[in-house]
Amino acid sequence: MYTGSLRRLIDELGKLPGVGPKSAQRIAFYLLKVPTEDATRLAQAIVDLKENTQLCPICFNVAETDSLCPICLDGRRSTATLCVVEDPRDIVAVERTGQFHGRYHVLHGALNPLEGVGPDQLKVRELLARLEPEGVEEVILCTNPNLEGEATALYLAKLLTPLGLKVTRIASGLPVGGDLEYADELTLGRALEGRRTVGGDDAPSA
Ligand SMILES: [Zn+2]
Repeated sequence: MYTGSLRRLIDELGKLPGVGPKSAQRIAFYLLKVPTEDATRLAQAIVDLKENTQLCPICFNVAETDSLCPICLDGRRSTATLCVVEDPRDIVAVERTGQFHGRYHVLHGALNPLEGVGPDQLKVRELLARLEPEGVEEVILCTNPNLEGEATALYLAKLLTPLGLKVTRIASGLPVGGDLEYADELTLGRALEGRRTVGGDDAPSA
């Protein structure tokens, strides 16, 4: 129906999350109409993103190439408290609450055996390696309140508690099955405030 270039752009746009075939068509025709320099700026922003960003070598948040992320660069942030999240977008959600002044660790996913995601596919080894050198005293497990997030929190609690750390989980009150990303800052702020210790008292009673 469409010529080569237009067809290709519609196909590429249609692969984006949340963009269906109709939206892809609408965006493509919009870009066809805008001044060339506007379209070029968008294309260049995508190229720059891929060329100039990497994962922060400390916390695995998004960072500019050859640099730490803004949070690890900020010397005022405490290294004693570490907030473990699944995704860099969750950092934005926690930061919006204004209630956390420590640092983060991004796992880049959650345990999901059915999809072949085990501890080795997540930044778990990297998490363990940070604890002692950075003098971490409390780890807040801030994974999503869904099946995978809870399983990941449980796994990490069992791994971290024997190391003599305080391990806490954000309180319930977040919509179950939901995504941190979509939690409003008030609810997430309360969940952070109401976090409780996990992992220490779940020994099976023989
Ligand atoms: Zn970082």
